[in-house]
Amino acid sequence: MLVGELVPKCGRIALLSVTLAGCSAPQPVRREIVSHETTPRLTPMTHQYAVPVLMYHRIANLSPAEQRNQLLRDLTVSPHDFEEQVSYLKENDYIFLQVSEVEKALRDGQPLPEKAIAITMDDGYRDNFTEALPILTKYSAKATIFMVTNNFEAKERLSWADARQMLREKMSFQSHTVSHPDLTTLNPERLDFELIESKRVLESGLGTKVTSVAYPAGAFNRAVSKASEKAGYLAAWKKGGGPVYPVNATTPYELPRIRIHGKTDFEKFKRRVANG
Ligand SMILES: [Zn+2]
Repeated sequence: MLVGELVPKCGRIALLSVTLAGCSAPQPVRREIVSHETTPRLTPMTHQYAVPVLMYHRIANLSPAEQRNQLLRDLTVSPHDFEEQVSYLKENDYIFLQVSEVEKALRDGQPLPEKAIAITMDDGYRDNFTEALPILTKYSAKATIFMVTNNFEAKERLSWADARQMLREKMSFQSHTVSHPDLTTLNPERLDFELIESKRVLESGLGTKVTSVAYPAGAFNRAVSKASEKAGYLAAWKKGGGPVYPVNATTPYELPRIRIHGKTDFEKFKRRVANG
């Protein structure tokens, strides 16, 4: 029997089973195989990517007293706004990546989806678990938490149990140092400790590989990026600088992120995603 005769009768998937079972005996066709809804959509990949890596902190509704704290207001995106932003990304066919996936593509010179995005959240606030996680999972999105390891189990911060649950829900954890100091002010021993110990604590506590660090407040210099490399990180993230382009492969210890503030309104959010 010619292959050309088989195709219309058996379909491409059934053709695979021909060599095993033959086409003459009627085979039950599983509905999920022929269903269009479950056919994976092809994601266009490109070497000319521009991936916005969004940087959040808290996702919460602030009390009136907290609203008067300007720093807190700046750090905090409301769950309503966060859901509007995540649902916008989902509806516009963005592919959610972990920062480790972006870093790997950079390192290996591999393509990324044309419309890729990464969500990151810094410092390890507990609302990342209570408020952000349900929204992220609702839209099948994922995020990377840059965790300050001394913050585990602290007031209003993530517990180890929260973190493990988040891992199960496709979130990932990377380092944001042990105690969130300005790394540019530390002596070499303290600098090494902040970088090496946070990586060790996360890897042993969560059983995952930690490949990158986000510099506290984005502050770094040559000594900090050298120490990050020496500590075993493959990449490091600063603040600002627009989306990640392939050219960023030349400076893996100064990768850019786009800050989303409490006051970032929806129109501005869309512009930042589009233009950095
Ligand atoms: Zn921070």
